[in-house]
Amino acid sequence: MATLIPLALVSYISGIAIEPVYWAFAIFCPLVISYFVSRKFIRMSEHIRNLHSDLSNAHEALKHVAEHDALTQTLNRRGFLHRLELSRTNGPGWLLLLDIDRFKAINDRHGDETGDHVLHTIALHLRRGIRTDDCVGRLGGEEFAIFLPGANRETALAMAESIRQGIANTAFTGRSGALHGITISIGLAHLAPSLSIPDCLRMADVALYQAKDDGRNCVKVGECIIPAQCGTPLFQSLPITTR
Ligand code: GH3
Ligand code: MG
Ligand code: MG
Repeated sequence: MATLIPLALVSYISGIAIEPVYWAFAIFCPLVISYFVSRKFIRMSEHIRNLHSDLSNAHEALKHVAEHDALTQTLNRRGFLHRLELSRTNGPGWLLLLDIDRFKAINDRHGDETGDHVLHTIALHLRRGIRTDDCVGRLGGEEFAIFLPGANRETALAMAESIRQGIANTAFTGRSGALHGITISIGLAHLAPSLSIPDCLRMADVALYQAKDDGRNCVKVGECIIPAQCGTPLFQSLPITTR
């Protein structure tokens, strides 16, 4: 249009007949140019679309790495606390804090590689032992956590006991053959709507320490004796032990 209109005007005003070859030139030149320009734009937009998709894949992969533990493929502390935060919005649940007993001795006796293998195998047990909505994470070192959303005390205790027994009955493989007698201690805490996540972790930790004090390889339940509404919350372990 930009070339045809001036050409028509020149021809009309001056009365000079423009030769067909110029008309053809005026029609085809812009067509050819706009074909190549459009093709370039289409290619560029495809390229930008691919870049967007690569970027969003890289973002997902980065998010996975940031929230997972490479050794055990469970959530790491950050990922677990994030999931816990989201999960609790759907209602209360039970938190299990699990710590491998005398793990330092396993490393010292059999080497760190075997220790890593034990961590990996225990994580596998935990992942297999939970329900679909539950989540498991490695909070650090040889300490794991599981959150059971919507569970009641009986379910939480039964799951903790079943996990404890499952691990106590497992023969782990080490460099120098099978390793027997690897156990874990577990502390339980109810994540009630009135309790903060750090306080719930503290309550489970108190129960876990009691389990260690009571000879390890057992499950203990924490309770709140001074609630947060009355000042600094205070926790203790209930005199219930499953072993
Ligand atoms: P307790 O029964 O009281 O929990 O004793 P423990 O030996 O399990 O606890 P302690 O805190 O004394 O030792 C924990 C050990 O865990 C020390 C550290 O070397 C080991 N550890 C922490 N992270 C890793 C890891 O990623 N791989 C290996 N192999 N060992 C680890
Ligand atoms: Mg330990
Ligand atoms: Mg520990």
